[in-house]
Amino acid sequence: MQRDLFEEEHLLFQETLREFMAREVAPHHDQWEKDGIVPREVWKKAGEIGMFGFGVGEEYGGSGITDFRYNSVITEEIIRAGASGLGWGLHNDVVAPYLTELTNEEQKQRWLPGFVSGELISAIAMTEPGAGSDLQGVRTTAIREGDHYVLNGQKTFITNGINSDLVVVVAKTDPSAGARGTTLLVVERGMEGFERGRNLEKVGLKAQDTAELFFDNVRVPVENRLGENEGEGFFQLMNNLPQERLSIAVVAVAAAEAVLEMTLEYCRNRQAFGRNIGKFQNTRFVLAELATEVEIARHYVDKCILALNARQLSVVDAAKAKWWTTELQVKVIDRCLQLHGGYGYMMEYPVAKAWLDSRVQTIYGGTTEIMKEIIGRSLDI
Ligand SMILES: Cc1cc2nc3c(=O)[nH]c(=O)nc-3n(C[C@H](O)[C@H](O)[C@H](O)COP(=O)(O)OP(=O)(O)OC[C@H]3O[C@@H](n4cnc5c(N)ncnc54)[C@H](O)[C@@H]3O)c2cc1C
Repeated sequence: MQRDLFEEEHLLFQETLREFMAREVAPHHDQWEKDGIVPREVWKKAGEIGMFGFGVGEEYGGSGITDFRYNSVITEEIIRAGASGLGWGLHNDVVAPYLTELTNEEQKQRWLPGFVSGELISAIAMTEPGAGSDLQGVRTTAIREGDHYVLNGQKTFITNGINSDLVVVVAKTDPSAGARGTTLLVVERGMEGFERGRNLEKVGLKAQDTAELFFDNVRVPVENRLGENEGEGFFQLMNNLPQERLSIAVVAVAAAEAVLEMTLEYCRNRQAFGRNIGKFQNTRFVLAELATEVEIARHYVDKCILALNARQLSVVDAAKAKWWTTELQVKVIDRCLQLHGGYGYMMEYPVAKAWLDSRVQTIYGGTTEIMKEIIGRSLDI
């Protein structure tokens, strides 16, 4: 079925991005994988071509267009370029709504221009060594003392953890109040007592700086709180998680499509027993199944993107998109690797890197099991 998500302006933007990725990103990504980090300069270059903060108002340097189709174009081009280490999806799709929708005028002026230009790199720190799926178990505290919060605790697995200048930190301002005691604070680079730990060594996403963060009596001004009142943090997180999960689903489908395409090409050319391996019935059946499922996933995710634009994407819809497409991505890439034979296990073949990069997709942003819990609860059983 024909895909009809994008209009002419999205396709024009796609062309610009494709050229940018080919010039500024793809040739350098191997080196960034070795370095374990993406240089800040490329963030600024991406900012110059309008890559960040589409929904940010023009008065703060953005385009003022709230249309997740642009986010999707960006993600798809990143995947196409094999640039899995860029934390741009996290910046654009996950953190952006916190900084655009929960900030007051003073905060917008302070943070948004840098967010758009790529000079202020963002992160969000929910997960702790003892609390991942169960966010209510967060132990980081932020206790009010006059016009500051005193922040203490530890976070782990934080995307953009080393590069980040602005970190949205989930903390308990009232540790005895459960979810209602949770507040979001923006911690800025250089605040005393804010330290970064290890840049963690991962199975995949090698160029991504995923790190530990430590807060030791960090005095965070009250002006850095997101939202008018303390205790709104859990609700704010629940509100924004559907967009985060959709963003992961967009990656999943784009990655599955890309690997399927390269595998078709491989099967057209690789010879065994005197013919192309694509001529074997098994190969055709495997590819037929994967092509069918990926196309179905594509249409569901595109529909979710439009629902998000209309502010109608429910938590349950996003959970369905997240678990099903990411499990599909893992399956598609694994089967495609098999069709590459031994070459699929060699890092010089992109399917090998895609296989390593894909594994985390069913884990972060809420695991498959948690997504099924969310959906199951909605079924009235
Ligand atoms: C590369 C990477 C980047 C990340 N980036 C970020 C980031 O930027 N910011 C951030 O805050 N976090 C980030 N995370 C953390 C990620 O969101 C968590 O790892 C994830 O939510 C799972 O939490 P956990 O690791 O503590 O696993 P746990 O919660 O300990 O889960 C372990 C297992 O138990 C299962 N389980 C848990 N609860 C239930 C239940 N109720 N029912 C059934 N099964 C259950 C899980 O599904 C899983 O299989 C990142 C993680 C990785 C690996």
